[in-house]
Amino acid sequence: MRKIGVLTSGGDTPGMNSAIRAVFKEGVRQNLNVLGIFHGYRGLIEGNIRELTHADVENIMHKGGTVLRTARSEEFKTDDGLKRALSMAKAYSIEGLVVIGGDGSYRGAKLLNDMGVPTIGVPGTIDNDMGYTDYTIGFNTAVNTITNEIYNIRDTMRAHDRVGVIEVMGRYCGDIALWAGVAGGADMILVPECPLPWEDAAQTLYEYRLRGKLTSIVVMAEGAGKAEEFAAFVREKTGIDIKAIVPGYTQRGGNPVAYDRILASQLGQRAVELLCEGQFGRAVGTKRNQIIDVPLEDAIGRLDSFDEKLYYFNNNVLAKF
Ligand code: ADP
Repeated sequence: MRKIGVLTSGGDTPGMNSAIRAVFKEGVRQNLNVLGIFHGYRGLIEGNIRELTHADVENIMHKGGTVLRTARSEEFKTDDGLKRALSMAKAYSIEGLVVIGGDGSYRGAKLLNDMGVPTIGVPGTIDNDMGYTDYTIGFNTAVNTITNEIYNIRDTMRAHDRVGVIEVMGRYCGDIALWAGVAGGADMILVPECPLPWEDAAQTLYEYRLRGKLTSIVVMAEGAGKAEEFAAFVREKTGIDIKAIVPGYTQRGGNPVAYDRILASQLGQRAVELLCEGQFGRAVGTKRNQIIDVPLEDAIGRLDSFDEKLYYFNNNVLAKF
């Protein structure tokens, strides 16, 4: 193998740059030319490709976003788009490809691999919704960001004796809400994995208030509903002064925490190693602090295992308040 490509795809996540750097460094160590493919699969289709140099990966380890940019490409999902991507990979003599992205990107990676472009997936998404790996790159950073926001919001909520409900990302996965909620000392966490009827949630907040606890923080996964709707529901049922806060894209950005930089480094390095070993069509990840790899088909569509013990610990303690 002489030439490999690397691309970032789908939603961006803090730590993607650390992974790109690791792919480049390991590529150089293995005497490979490393091509950067810009704007994900769209860039592969359009030939937005050039060889990376040391200067490209200098001073990027700590930066959010992705120097390769990312994109969503509907065209890539079509037969014609896939065909164009394959012929571009051939034109650039790409003998191996590292795709850094989430579940959708992995589906594309599997197609490319099946069509003869040896491909490895590296899990990049803040949602932590890929069940084959304990953590995805960016998750821990997003948790830290939201944890800090919870404290900021708590200050202003307390000043007014208000309840704040913070809606966090995660698509169908409640991990960001759970982890940030626990770390931020949230009084209630709403996740899709353990649905809590809104009626019960409103009643609990009302009881808190009756017993003198005037400020509460609710962390709500986007998969559990809309914070605005929840706030309106609670206001209507109880008369509580409740505000909805949606931090949105702030949780995608920012400098990756050290853990994400290290995980991205390990996974990027391992991805190139697998290509050099002739092991294709695999996804790298981490289980019980070990770096693992599994077939792409086993990584796709695998739901995350949710830590119900942590969830019920947090919500039960409060139910007995
Ligand atoms: P993520 O990788 O973060 O889950 P998306 O689901 O948006 O993000 O997927 C990123 C890109 O991967 C899509 O824009 C598309 O080009 C490609 N992709 C997604 N799903 C498929 C699929 N089923 N088949 C082929 N390519 C796909």
